[in-house]
Amino acid sequence: MSEGLELLGKAIATYWTSPVPLSVLAVCGASMGTLLYVFATNARNAKLRVSLLTGLYALSIFFWLFLAVSLVLCIAQARDVAYATTGVQVAVAGAVLASLVASAAVSFGVWRYAPASVLRRFAPREPGGDEAWLQSYADLVAEFERFPRPAVGIVDSDAPFAIAVGGRRPTVIVGSGLLRQLDRDEVETVVAHELMHLKHHDAGFKVFSRVFSRILFFDPFSKFFDPAVHREREYLADEAGARSTGKPAALASALLKLSKAGTPPRATWGLSIHGPVKGVFSRYPPLRERVRRLLLLRDLLDAGRRGQ
Ligand SMILES: [Zn+2]
Repeated sequence: MSEGLELLGKAIATYWTSPVPLSVLAVCGASMGTLLYVFATNARNAKLRVSLLTGLYALSIFFWLFLAVSLVLCIAQARDVAYATTGVQVAVAGAVLASLVASAAVSFGVWRYAPASVLRRFAPREPGGDEAWLQSYADLVAEFERFPRPAVGIVDSDAPFAIAVGGRRPTVIVGSGLLRQLDRDEVETVVAHELMHLKHHDAGFKVFSRVFSRILFFDPFSKFFDPAVHREREYLADEAGARSTGKPAALASALLKLSKAGTPPRATWGLSIHGPVKGVFSRYPPLRERVRRLLLLRDLLDAGRRGQ
């Protein structure tokens, strides 16, 4: 037993003092550092920040998987790793490959099954009567923005919320409470915001990021990345939705009304257009900043129109 432990200790020591695994970690660390630097120096570029955070998130997942699989392979082939230099190389190659395959497999599973489970949870119905315009409006936006035709579903609930669900059947779910509390212009901008999440594949990513942040519960980075990615994607969907409709002020007004209506049901947190805001760990950007950016965009569009 003690001999086995001694061998394992030697294998781990040999592995983590070899240049190849250390180089993998160094490249990973240097890439994360570079992305963080570009992130910190581009505070207002939501599109760039979304890509950077996504990259940082992927690297952080790779980092932990690499450590875990390396340990498993050191245990599995302790003798080879401890005494043969090729053992280290085989273990590193195995760890890199297994980490990539494992993240791809979990990502595929989340992409394939998570949206369906969200749809089952909310069980939306088709829009009818006064709500029928929502589907034709969504079709029009999708055709103009060039992404597959989404379904619009209604959930009968007093709570005002709107959710984008990705996957094989992209759907925008709207709570009937939202339709009652907002006027037509505001509803259009909220639907456009959700459609932009579908266009940018945010809907699938949000679920993916939540699942991974739960799996990596011990990882301090994911506690920061997961909410930060959500916040940047909200800014981006606000801006793209407001540009597409040409009504940024209506979206700002919708956000203010929704926040006055109170916190939406817990099941919609992180998915709906608005939710609880609590600093650096919040999945939603501060309401003031969202409204400020939208009003700035309105001023910009107005200035452009006046100049014509
Ligand atoms: Zn959103």
